[in-house]
Amino acid sequence: MKFNEVIGHSQLLEQLRNNIDTGRVSHAQLIVGECGWGTLQVALAYVQYLHCAHREGGEPCGKCPSCVQIAALAHPDVHFVFPIVNPTKNPTCDYFIGEWREMVTASDAIFDEHEWYDNIDAANSQGIIPVKEAENIIRKLSFKAFEGEYKSVIVWLPERMNTQTANALLKILEEPWEKTLFLLVCEHPESLLTTILSRTQQINVGRIEPEALADYATSRLGATPSAAASAARIAGGSVTTLRRVLTEQEGSASDNFELFTRLMRLSYSNRHLELFEWAEQVCAMGREGQKNFLEYALGLIRESYMLTAGMESVSNLWGAEREFCLKFAPFVANHNVEALVAEIERALRDIGQNGNPRMVFTHFALATSKLIAQRVQ
Ligand SMILES: [Zn+2]
Repeated sequence: MKFNEVIGHSQLLEQLRNNIDTGRVSHAQLIVGECGWGTLQVALAYVQYLHCAHREGGEPCGKCPSCVQIAALAHPDVHFVFPIVNPTKNPTCDYFIGEWREMVTASDAIFDEHEWYDNIDAANSQGIIPVKEAENIIRKLSFKAFEGEYKSVIVWLPERMNTQTANALLKILEEPWEKTLFLLVCEHPESLLTTILSRTQQINVGRIEPEALADYATSRLGATPSAAASAARIAGGSVTTLRRVLTEQEGSASDNFELFTRLMRLSYSNRHLELFEWAEQVCAMGREGQKNFLEYALGLIRESYMLTAGMESVSNLWGAEREFCLKFAPFVANHNVEALVAEIERALRDIGQNGNPRMVFTHFALATSKLIAQRVQ
């Protein structure tokens, strides 16, 4: 991973790059922050830059054998330690290295502890870093470096070391080996031995800036710019939260689509009794859901109008929404579009001012029905 592939954190990365450029590579570093903030990305970029044979313009080259092997998580001098399950049967991380590579690659190196256990079919488990793994690492480090001068160990969630493992690691940290780097990627430094804390240099990774999250949501997660912006605002600087919010938004968008199309069909066919039932259903959604639906409806009415007005090229619709709006577009035209928009805005205002939802939505459904039916009469 190059520095410019890390999401956000430009200031911190500049500082880390500078440390390597000027030869200030502390042998044990504690990278602290929530997994969702991209701590593992930071560690991977740091290690790739350190090991790269042809750094250029403050970035690893991406082409030398070191870069290629680190990108594939298969560099002979870069080792990974992470919590595992069932250590009596599978005593070291090597048993899980395939799943580890898969997870890191598929998630752009941002996933939390639960997602990791899910990936190794151990949901609801609590993993550990067993003492066998510490012995394994000591054995691996005792070989001469294969590729370049450095050997690196990335320990993801060192707080999952048991006491035996922690003591074994402490021995290495107390008497550091030459050109050997330990990066501990940690969420809860308070649960590490104080002796380990005192032997590491702490690097705090903060929350990711919302702009960087929104960019990531559009460029890598396929979100629309408006969905990306609103999810980034509420994600609290975390990519794992961002993904969850986007998934929930998709769910509510499809609920809103179902409500909207039903309202339009009932309006078109003037089925009053069912319109009352429709209003009841919206009443049960809670005020936030109601506002959300009305804003969604406003968007679709505007899009439909653009389709009637022949402005198909500026429409943002696709898939089922587009299909529906194309059919429905003739019913939203100059004679009623302003009145429809006014009804939605009025409902939004009334709900915002704590109006009685039953009155607001019964009125809204009947008024909409009248306006839509005008065309067919
Ligand atoms: Zn390189």
